[in-house]
Amino acid sequence: EETELRKFDSSNDTYKTSKRQFHKAMGRFNAAMEFFLCALSAAVIAAGGGLIMAGKMDIVDLITFSLYITTFVNPVRKLSNFAELFANGTAGLGRFVELMREEPAMKDAPDATVLSRVEGRIDVDHVSFAYQDDLAVLHDVDLHIHPGETVAVVGPSGGGKSTLCQLIPRFYDVTSGAIRIDGVDVRAVTQESLRQNVGVVQQEVFLFAASILENIRYGRPGATEEEVAQAAKLAEIYDDIVAMPDGFNTYVGERGTLLSGGQKQRISIARIFLKDPPVLILDEATSALDSVTEARLQETFERLSHGRTTIIIAHRLSTVRNADRIAVVEEGRIVELGSHEELMARDGAYAQLVRTQELRHG
Ligand code: ADP
Repeated sequence: EETELRKFDSSNDTYKTSKRQFHKAMGRFNAAMEFFLCALSAAVIAAGGGLIMAGKMDIVDLITFSLYITTFVNPVRKLSNFAELFANGTAGLGRFVELMREEPAMKDAPDATVLSRVEGRIDVDHVSFAYQDDLAVLHDVDLHIHPGETVAVVGPSGGGKSTLCQLIPRFYDVTSGAIRIDGVDVRAVTQESLRQNVGVVQQEVFLFAASILENIRYGRPGATEEEVAQAAKLAEIYDDIVAMPDGFNTYVGERGTLLSGGQKQRISIARIFLKDPPVLILDEATSALDSVTEARLQETFERLSHGRTTIIIAHRLSTVRNADRIAVVEEGRIVELGSHEELMARDGAYAQLVRTQELRHG
């Protein structure tokens, strides 16, 4: 608390100092200007008075001239106020323009085509990838997934599992090699059409500051209320929603404080049911859920992946066992690939992983 207070105080001090300087400068400027304007009137009256006494000017002329001066003073005041506004405005405009000129890092190719609904074959063709120039995270990864197949990706954390999965919906571009969906390079199609074909369920569910109905509807913006309800039923969250004070119109904040971790996951699953993509990427939650919730969620995941090409970043043995094939990723390489039985028989990295998990969970 004290450290944060100190930080807050120091940034407050910076703000106070710059504000003080601003007000000082404005004070000097305004004082000088007012002094000049008042001195002007005084000079006119003094000079005019002198001339009248000398009989060289009429009193009516002096009054008229004074009125002219007043008319002249007002625009000068306005102009000085405008100078202040203008300085503030240009500073703000500069920041605004800078933000608006920001180009997205990922752009569609000029001749990008629209990817229609795919069958779901995924080819990761000798892919290497680095977030920063020289630090390669994936090295020559080669993985070919058939339509409808479920592949579990396992391995130690930091090995590159999430990175591999993020390359498929093209959140990043590969450094070398290619990723193809139904034989089409993901860089050759529009991002919009690509992402219509790929559904992603992440560990951290993002909810928008809107009602539950709208939050599920992000899966397919044109969906009717019945379709949303149907998706909620498939995701087994329907009863929970109906029990809430405002049902589907219950407002959830961005952090979804009203919802439990399992419920948030189910909302993101409902989105995918609604979206119905042929390719699915699942990042299984590591913890945060109790074992009953977890087991029920697992069933839902299985229903969700039915008939879709599915890649699961799996943390639990039960999930892994149900997959058609398992890819063990270590230090950016696929070190083993095959079914549970094959890999157990091989007695390599996967078998070792299974033994550690069994030891831990009994
Ligand atoms: P896993 O999913 O197997 O735990 P990740 O794919 O998240 O592994 O990470 C692989 C490596 O890539 C790690 O060394 C990590 O530090 C690095 N990494 C992940 N995301 C980024 C990023 N956005 N920018 C730079 N490096 C990253």
